[in-house]
Amino acid sequence: IDWDAAGGWHDARVHAYGPLSLDPAAAVLHYGQEIFEGIKAYRHADGSIWTFRPRANGERLQRSAARLALPQLPVDEFVESLRQLVAVDHEWVPSAAETSLYFRPFMIATEAFLGVRAAQAAAYHVIASPAGAYFANGVSPVSIWLSQEYARAAKGGTGAAKCGGNYAASLLPQLEARAQGCSQVLFLDPVEGKYLEELGGMNVFLVYADGRIVTPELSGSILDGITRHSILQLARDRGLQVEERKVSLDEWRDGVASGEIVEAFACGTAAVITPIGELKGKDLSIGDANAPAGEVTMAIRKELTDIQYGRLPDRHGWLVRLR
Ligand code: PMP
Repeated sequence: IDWDAAGGWHDARVHAYGPLSLDPAAAVLHYGQEIFEGIKAYRHADGSIWTFRPRANGERLQRSAARLALPQLPVDEFVESLRQLVAVDHEWVPSAAETSLYFRPFMIATEAFLGVRAAQAAAYHVIASPAGAYFANGVSPVSIWLSQEYARAAKGGTGAAKCGGNYAASLLPQLEARAQGCSQVLFLDPVEGKYLEELGGMNVFLVYADGRIVTPELSGSILDGITRHSILQLARDRGLQVEERKVSLDEWRDGVASGEIVEAFACGTAAVITPIGELKGKDLSIGDANAPAGEVTMAIRKELTDIQYGRLPDRHGWLVRLR
């Protein structure tokens, strides 16, 4: 769907996958005026295809657009764009458990000019790709790497928006994590470098022995994850006490040492929930890479995926049928 300041949104269309045509002076190429979303569709046993809380993604795209000075796409149009794509995709037939169709909606500034200002023309696209099971050989705990040198977002910056620039900032720390045998990088808050923020592409949770579930509050520099929000709800439903607040690295280290913190996990659309075995850093090791996945972690993971795949009733009305 194209947008320009004079005419608003126009020319919604579905066409065959192929390269985009962009003017070399398009604002997106120079100033990173770009936002995106990640959302999946799941095929249920009866063949119907459903997506999970798409309005929440549409609303987050609107908040990202506001921060990046891009136009507001109506949430109904966002959901309709997923529906239209699924309507023409006849080839996607998931074969194994936990496969899905991953959507990547994105919006870019297309106006061609070289001064620095908000573009007056933009385009919204969605592409889709079948996604295999995130854990092909069963869910197993991952090791993550603490970035002590870099932050992914600044105070007052774009950390709460889902824009390409945040991910650009996380690529080098991510390389560092890989070199240390870790699959993801954990960032601390950009002001004091003391409190947990999130992983490169996931939110983070700690589970306490007394049944509390704690996750860093929405600090203004982390993404308001839809999986995070859903997990908080499922945990409350189970009668667990949930806390959204500042969590320091010291609290995690001391809590694991004293036995007060018994599980850690990360969450996001791609992996749903990933148990965290160990947090590694320069002169730092919290947890045990070889410990089994935590019970609470796996119980919530199972419940959430069962809802997504239609194996449990959708009691919160989270699923929206696409086909
Ligand atoms: N934080 C970051 C930086 C992410 O990229 C993602 C993935 N979108 C998340 C958290 C988790 O968000 P969600 O649960 O909406 O996928």
